[in-house]
Amino acid sequence: MAVKVINDLCRGCTICVKKCPFDAIAMEGKLAVIGEACTNCGVCVSACPFKAIMQEEMEKEKEDLSLYQDVWVFAEQRESKVMPVVYELLGEGRKLAEKRQSKLCALLCGYQMSHQVEDLIAHGADVVYVADHEELRTYTTDGYSKVFHEAIKKYKPEIVLLGATHIGRDLGPSIAVKSSTGLTADCTSLEIDPEDGKLRQTRPAFGGNLMATIICPDTRPQMSTVRPGVMDKALYDPEREGEVIRLDVSFQPDEIRTKVLKTVKSLAKQVSLSDADIIVAGGMGIGNKEGFKLLEELAEKLGGTVAASRACVDAGWIEHQYQVGQTGTTVKPTLYFAFGISGAIQHIAGMKDSDYIIAVNKNQDAPIFEVADYGIVGDLYQVIPGLLDEIERIAL
Ligand code: FAD
Ligand code: SF4
Repeated sequence: MAVKVINDLCRGCTICVKKCPFDAIAMEGKLAVIGEACTNCGVCVSACPFKAIMQEEMEKEKEDLSLYQDVWVFAEQRESKVMPVVYELLGEGRKLAEKRQSKLCALLCGYQMSHQVEDLIAHGADVVYVADHEELRTYTTDGYSKVFHEAIKKYKPEIVLLGATHIGRDLGPSIAVKSSTGLTADCTSLEIDPEDGKLRQTRPAFGGNLMATIICPDTRPQMSTVRPGVMDKALYDPEREGEVIRLDVSFQPDEIRTKVLKTVKSLAKQVSLSDADIIVAGGMGIGNKEGFKLLEELAEKLGGTVAASRACVDAGWIEHQYQVGQTGTTVKPTLYFAFGISGAIQHIAGMKDSDYIIAVNKNQDAPIFEVADYGIVGDLYQVIPGLLDEIERIAL
């Protein structure tokens, strides 16, 4: 698609200039002119009251898809620390690369990050592409997408995986647009089609009521963002050896339109549900905000972390960072307690892969019992104090 101004219809009203979210339109005399920053979003097409802007299909050059090889993982780092989801992507990427008989590669953008390169190789990367530049120390959409896009053009990966983190969700679409390819967001499963070798990307659709499997048949790379906590982490082998390819990185002045002046960290307690081994989760059955104090007591005794259903978050009983499920965090602990949680499909989507699920619910027909390994039909306010007493007794 390309956006075009129909000169005969343009009245020079400048509405499109104000509406364009990318500052891609300038006035030349009384005529709107679309510039290079245009992303084909189409906002101006619907904004123009004179129907003077249109989107037209471009004849796409047929690409030789066989030129694209290898599986790439975006090695997202923050403050020089590689994010946990990267190890999950390397674990999954290894399986895909083996099926495609290709290499598993990591792309690392940052500044002075040699230690992280070794770590990525030890976690399974055959090749690490390193973009080292002071401007890449902290994430910016312009800086990272330019470097990533140029690397894709040059080295032609067949598959590109990013974590569905805030950064991955921003960077992925930006690269996909630049590379004129598709992106499947928030995947929960990836596999190679045994017939044609294409990537089958599965993600929840229609509020989690069905799973959609999406392919990218005509363009490359095939791109996915993957939810943290869903895939198994790559194994660590310090003896592994790999290749390091340093990318040429340079920026024109003002090419990066945002400047990170300082990073202000939230003072709120940060929880990492996706790394927790024991989770004590509560739902509306706990009755009120104060009910979480009892869950916290149990979590503390077990060395675990408190979590919640979305209904509790919506009720204002607990912050969103504690939410498990389709629109919260996906978790895979050894032990998951579900106290007073009915077991809606959107909740189950985020915790069903826990090793052991123990559900406590007053209603014996609650759907949570269908996924639970152990179920107690009863009042959580009787069960939890009983559990606490028992833990105390064992500890003595
Ligand atoms: P309820 O469904 O009200 O269940 C409360 C349960 O507690 C009942 O089963 C009841 O029998 C039991 N109970 C009551 N008192 C006691 C007691 N004293 N002792 C023991 N048991 C008791 N939900 C999520 O959790 N995570 C998500 O990410 C999420 N995303 C969503 C996305 C979309 C697009 C939509 C539409 C919904 C989403 N939801 C999500 C909401 C989901 O559909 C449910 O509404 C929610 O999970 C219900 O929360 P709950 O089980 O705590 O509450
Ligand atoms: Fe701006 Fe979007 Fe119109 Fe392009 S399509 S000129 S980005 S509003």
